[in-house]
Amino acid sequence: MRVVRCELLEVDIPFKLTFKHSLHERSESNSILVKLTSDTGDVGWGESLPRDYVTGETGESVVETIRDSFLPGVLEVSHSTWEESLEHAAHLEKEARARNPELPERIGASRCAIELAFLDLAGKHFRRSVAEIFGQRKREWVEYSGVISSDSRWKVIKTALKMRLGALRQIKVKVGGKDDREKLQWIRSMVGPSVDLRVDANAAWNVSDAIGKIQVFKQFGVSSVEQPVAAGDLAGLQAVTAAVTTPIMVDESLCSLGDAKKLVAMDACDYFNIRLSKCGGLFASLELAEFARNHDKGCQLGCQVGETAILSAAGRHFALGVAGLKYFEGSFGTHLLEQDVARENLTFRRGGIGRPLPGPGLGVNVLEERIDPHVRKRHAVEG
Ligand SMILES: [Mg+2]
Repeated sequence: MRVVRCELLEVDIPFKLTFKHSLHERSESNSILVKLTSDTGDVGWGESLPRDYVTGETGESVVETIRDSFLPGVLEVSHSTWEESLEHAAHLEKEARARNPELPERIGASRCAIELAFLDLAGKHFRRSVAEIFGQRKREWVEYSGVISSDSRWKVIKTALKMRLGALRQIKVKVGGKDDREKLQWIRSMVGPSVDLRVDANAAWNVSDAIGKIQVFKQFGVSSVEQPVAAGDLAGLQAVTAAVTTPIMVDESLCSLGDAKKLVAMDACDYFNIRLSKCGGLFASLELAEFARNHDKGCQLGCQVGETAILSAAGRHFALGVAGLKYFEGSFGTHLLEQDVARENLTFRRGGIGRPLPGPGLGVNVLEERIDPHVRKRHAVEG
């Protein structure tokens, strides 16, 4: 099996609602989809959501990085077994860096999109599941968290009520505004004492603000605080982590194994938020999760706002296959998107539940007619 064609699609899938946090507000996905076709006629799909305020990548830069640095290696090799394909997929970044030593340190979104497409294609061709990367399943289902965006009082209450009715047991709240205290108070009173509430500040605070806020939030039973200070402020993260008893989670500060090593060396956090799109896909994220486990850090599987069924499927396999994960985000599907892109419905169910995905590759069948109306730009490369 050899890859003979690659299409890179810049896509804006519309949301049902606007999602806000301290760093951004968006109402469509702004994603990159990768479609690979083999000489045998099999097709594989990958996805990432480049965010310049996270990895420094944009849609344009991802297209360029995949086309110029990743794709030549993908197009020139022929694979005769699934195992060979996995071996190749695991080393895509190394190959790309050898081809282009000038690549920036953070290219997670580029690697993620091409890796997922390649794994999906190889899996579909050899009739094997991407889940096999992780060995034995570590849990029988995933329990996803709800996420409440930075919004008006009425919208926050409405969302909290919906989550209560949907029996979600873990909820993350976007904070960093003036009315955080009131907001957490309403939410806690809406959802009751047994729901696990955590917050994400998306780098909204300085160190002293962060410490003050976190102390105040304790009364609402907040179980962790994500990215309290700026991504590059590791000394600040270290100071906050040392000053409070509530666990601190890093997100924007963690995009690569290099970042993870620095954070651990400085003891600048308690949890990693691993998101496939920013961290470089399944293999790089698995490496981060293993690194966390070996260094007594907790882990959450996070997601980007606006992931379609392609990344939801990849996340599902990761969530079911990786040991030691504490929280799960993703599979929002049509809770957020006007329409998702696969025949299978990956949207989490009542209680936040997501089940294993049978089927080869990523386990989803992409319906192109649902993507086509939202393509902003299409780039094709023939092998
Ligand atoms: Mg975050």
